[in-house]
Amino acid sequence: MASIVLPDELKPADGRFGCGPSKIRQEAITALATAGVELLGTSHRQRPVKHLVHSVKEGLAELFALPEGYEIILGNGGSTAFWDAAAFGLIEKRSENLTFGEFGAKFAKAAAAPWLDAPVVVDAPAGTRSALVAVEGVDVYAYPHNETSTGVMHPVVRAAGDAGALTVVDATSAAGGILFDTTEADVYYFAPQKNFASDGGLWLAAVSPAAIERIESIATSGRYIPESLSLKLALDNSRLDQTLNTPAIATLFLMNEQTRWINEEGGLAWADARTKKSSGLLYDWAESVSYATPFVANDAERSQVVVTIDFEDIDAAEIAATLRANGIVDTEPYRKLGRNQLRIATFTAIEPSDVAQLIRSIEYAVEHLG
Ligand SMILES: *Cc1c(COP(=O)(O)O)cnc(C)c1O
Repeated sequence: MASIVLPDELKPADGRFGCGPSKIRQEAITALATAGVELLGTSHRQRPVKHLVHSVKEGLAELFALPEGYEIILGNGGSTAFWDAAAFGLIEKRSENLTFGEFGAKFAKAAAAPWLDAPVVVDAPAGTRSALVAVEGVDVYAYPHNETSTGVMHPVVRAAGDAGALTVVDATSAAGGILFDTTEADVYYFAPQKNFASDGGLWLAAVSPAAIERIESIATSGRYIPESLSLKLALDNSRLDQTLNTPAIATLFLMNEQTRWINEEGGLAWADARTKKSSGLLYDWAESVSYATPFVANDAERSQVVVTIDFEDIDAAEIAATLRANGIVDTEPYRKLGRNQLRIATFTAIEPSDVAQLIRSIEYAVEHLG
């Protein structure tokens, strides 16, 4: 099957369509290798790197039109570490977790910590989404803005729970690619290897005054909290433009380049229009051919940044392998979903014209595999 050679005129200029790590713009990589060289290998306690952290925070504040009193905080370990940090320092007694794919379910697992009450888990089958339910005593309502394993979005809306309950949104694959109302979330957290076109290893979050209050009150409650997972220490260090322990400076640098680029191009509204355009090309195409269908049946729930397409009468793994052999990579489905499917990122860094070329490449592969 690797013998199918895609004609050059059908191929995207950049063949990276993975959902994370994802395409990093060449301009950012070049900047890292030029201006960035002065920062690499220097101390994160000194002015140049603190200036970089400050710039990331400012760039995100602009991108999210950060409301009065909200702050950007960051720490090491990616979104996965944030789940554990939230179990230690954000959930007071009990969370509600919407699970409609792998990532939402992983947070629910982290929230089932022995010092907390068992979370209320509201589950829905892959390809659909569950809805918030107000439950007395729940103090954190958590859901993914974009479920990367299935390509389903959930709107950023506050939960109608008890007074003081926090709305905590996993925006790992959404942030920087989807327009939302920041005032609707208390914690909007993410990692930089998706729409922020950087490398992994960090988590960042926009946090509301209510979330800051919660972090501070749990920190003084006497609960045991390991230092590397302490949101209070992350908050204190972020305010000083640093992290508790050594961050990946290249990750911060690339993140800063991407944030600046999006802000210069027109901000989150621009990014939102761009990812809608790219994903729209794929969904329209999948609906127009006999052998493919969008996996997410309800088009109001379809992701604009992660497109999942089911195939019939043709092996999607063979399509993905053919693409890979021709330099078009990471279109395979989420491994645990187990469907005859392609999963394609339409993150902000990805050119809509490359998505159009990807479609032509898939058509060519299907024709020649068939
Ligand atoms: C990628 C992803 C994660 C995991 O991020 P890490 O930085 O690898 O821990 C969590 N949630 C969602 C929605 C994701 O897409």
